[in-house]
Amino acid sequence: MADLELPRRGLMFILSSPSGAGKTTIARRLLTAEGDALAMSVSVTTRPIRPGEVDGRDYHFTDQPRFRQMVAEDAFLEWAEVFGNLYATPRAAVMQELAQGRDSLFDVDWQGAQQLSQSSGTDVVSVFLLPPSIGELEHRLRTRGTDSEHVIRGRMDRARAEMSHWGEYDYVVVNDDVDACFAKVRTILAAERLKRARQTGLIAFTRGLVG
Ligand code: 5GP
Repeated sequence: MADLELPRRGLMFILSSPSGAGKTTIARRLLTAEGDALAMSVSVTTRPIRPGEVDGRDYHFTDQPRFRQMVAEDAFLEWAEVFGNLYATPRAAVMQELAQGRDSLFDVDWQGAQQLSQSSGTDVVSVFLLPPSIGELEHRLRTRGTDSEHVIRGRMDRARAEMSHWGEYDYVVVNDDVDACFAKVRTILAAERLKRARQTGLIAFTRGLVG
């Protein structure tokens, strides 16, 4: 039998974690697995583009004056300063996705998660990923590149600061095993999609059932 899906409103799926806890891997796998049903929200940032990044795919890269102008125009759902650079979630693209019943995925820090929860309420589902241990997090940050001890210390400090916000999220998942973590995150998404309040097609459907 075909899977009957009623019309529904999209949701805003936030993934946050300290860097090194596997957020990027989980986000990429979600996007691949979900296809058209889930789109990454591409943020605007003032930070310089890194090798391998593509403007418009990884971020919309811009400068401070333009960013400030967009803040004044209320073009952002949220914005924050992270490590000395400005980051923001553009409003229009997300609103369009939601109305069309598609979900948006957000890779934002705790400040972004907090602001999106405030501004977008029940549309938001937030998930925080934790590393299995502080030793494992440090190991992952160390094996990532050729960074100096000073840089690694800085990353560890930021990771601790980010992790202290776990209590502000709807769900917390420990990323011990990437397959298990991915399965849990996908289960959260599947269950949240079934929430009655999101299923805008229920009234028409049940009318047809009960007459
Ligand atoms: P990166 O510069 O390494 O890509 O990202 C640095 C940090 O900025 C990450 O913690 C990421 O989650 C956060 N970030 C990326 N985009 C946004 C955004 O639109 N809003 C907020 N608040 N944080 C963001």
